[in-house]
Amino acid sequence: MNAGPAAHRTVVADVRVFDGEKLLEPGTVVIDGPVIGTAADADGARRIDGRGGVLLPGLIDTHVHLTDLSTLRAFASYGVTTVLDMGTWPAEKVDALRGRTGLTDIRSATVGATSPDSAHGQRLRPEGGLVGGPDEAEGYVDRRVAEGADYIKIIIDLPGFDQATVDALVAAAHRHGMRTVVHASSLEAFRMAQHAGADVLTHAPLDRPVTEEDVARALAGDRVVSPTLAMMEAIVGAVGRPGAPGPSYEAARASVAALHRAGVPILAGSDANDAKGVPATPPFGDSLHRELELLTGAGLSTVEALRAATVVAARCFGLTDRGVIEPGRRADLLLVSGDPVADIRATRNVERVWCAGVEFDASRPNASRPNEDRR
Ligand SMILES: [Zn+2]
Repeated sequence: MNAGPAAHRTVVADVRVFDGEKLLEPGTVVIDGPVIGTAADADGARRIDGRGGVLLPGLIDTHVHLTDLSTLRAFASYGVTTVLDMGTWPAEKVDALRGRTGLTDIRSATVGATSPDSAHGQRLRPEGGLVGGPDEAEGYVDRRVAEGADYIKIIIDLPGFDQATVDALVAAAHRHGMRTVVHASSLEAFRMAQHAGADVLTHAPLDRPVTEEDVARALAGDRVVSPTLAMMEAIVGAVGRPGAPGPSYEAARASVAALHRAGVPILAGSDANDAKGVPATPPFGDSLHRELELLTGAGLSTVEALRAATVVAARCFGLTDRGVIEPGRRADLLLVSGDPVADIRATRNVERVWCAGVEFDASRPNASRPNEDRR
């Protein structure tokens, strides 16, 4: 191994480890610079006593909306070391947040595709995000690729896109080798996304649960779902009326339960944002922990919920350098007290957080990029 100087190494000793798949017996994890090292690298390293705690891969939130550096600090303080942004523009705003040493790492869709006729299009007026029909799909995707988007976000907000436009957007993304993440908070939108061959469906239908046929189609299409139950719960809390027609949290929960039972991968995502004029604003970081609780309420075991925020999230988005604890992976780590496998709420007992081997320190106002002055 090419171990760096001992001064750059930290050992977390006598700690139970959730390695992304399962909870292991107490052992030692070595942080060697930005990656996880081997036991052979432990000599002379700084030692942290991990007794009474569990070390997890840093959590991955698969649905957020970024604002500024304070957003990244909030995520890091909650042990969320990677976030997948599903709509922030312009791209320069996203670029300013990429690759910040000691802070949460990001990926981004930049601006999502929205119909000018939809509520999203009218309310948010997303610069560069309006797609008027199938003939505008290729140009929209080309511009996202050029500005460095990591995947393509498509908002099916009805009334809005027709099927032909969604089909054209997904096909254009796939021609560029890009994953598609489709906003679908009604059953009709969920079906349109499936018809188009979308990769990741986000939110869950709030009007009625998916049927067995929808589930079978999702499974056959290798689809993945990031249901953002924390957002679904918040929307129903904000606009729903008990016993009256309208959005139903129970419909969303039932869909997640059915998809999970059938084996469709479920990812942890919060839809954390602080945008103006949206129905709800789940708080950055905190709401991912709420999401884990809600996933267990929808039938995932605690281990499955933890996988949804670590190994499964990383795998489904091609983040092959993270999401598990093993030598050579990014040292994105979360040390909690207590045992989140016994009680998922223990993920909130954040003791220490490392972002690519740099321990997060809430007292540092602005983590900077390497070789770049702070702003
Ligand atoms: Zn969102």
